[in-house]
Amino acid sequence: MNSNDSKLSVTILGSGTCVPSLKRSSCSLLMRAGNNILLFDSGAGTMRRLLEAGVEIFEVSFIFYSHFHPDHTGELVPFLFSNKYPEGSSRKRPLTLAGGTGFLKFYENLKLAYGHWIELNPDLVNITEFDNTCHGTRRFDNFKAETIPVEHNPESIAYRITGPDGASVVYSGDTDFSDNLIMLSKGADLLICESALPDALKVKGHLTPSQAGDIAKRANVRKLVLTHFYPECDQADIEKECRKTYSGPLVLAEDLMAIDI
Ligand SMILES: [Zn+2]
Ligand SMILES: [Zn+2]
Repeated sequence: MNSNDSKLSVTILGSGTCVPSLKRSSCSLLMRAGNNILLFDSGAGTMRRLLEAGVEIFEVSFIFYSHFHPDHTGELVPFLFSNKYPEGSSRKRPLTLAGGTGFLKFYENLKLAYGHWIELNPDLVNITEFDNTCHGTRRFDNFKAETIPVEHNPESIAYRITGPDGASVVYSGDTDFSDNLIMLSKGADLLICESALPDALKVKGHLTPSQAGDIAKRANVRKLVLTHFYPECDQADIEKECRKTYSGPLVLAEDLMAIDI
């Protein structure tokens, strides 16, 4: 086993929102845990960005959803449909789809709308839910996934992934200020945190750069990545706002950016 077999790595696929943008695709994150390829959310443009990152859809073995808003789930249907072409023969490894409480119903409703066009061979797909009311821990193959409810939608959860090498990455999904997110992020190597709008444009259910920095500081994370930028963020000094509360290593996400852990 060489060192790459156990390494955890992260690439931002979509650093944007529901707003159409050539620069920022809707939300999605690519993670490699040894030989497993994980996606977190799959907003519009995910499959195109995956190709640009050099990954085929058939290689993806897990998709974890933070919540069901269309800018985070919109490309699930096209992803499943594409996995059936040509005749589903290209997918060899099972695909696990996971989300908070209600995800099974969400998936069943998609099947009511699209029928067999999005149904993969039952041997190749697992659907699972995480409890949206408490901290949860689940082992998958060579990595561990912990979840905790956050402040956005009833089903919203944040994820902490611990890779085979022991490195840990937290993905906030969408959230307002959250003590749970601080708890989940304690001492993490990387916190990928939403920072939807500048400080002056704070809205309920989302974080600003200084709030995300505050969470990172309280959790004592080793590195903070801000993402999920509405266009207003590109007109503001996001780094300066985040520096009001956080002085550690900081990255502002861009599509296709690989993040060192
Ligand atoms: Zn949302
Ligand atoms: Zn969102």
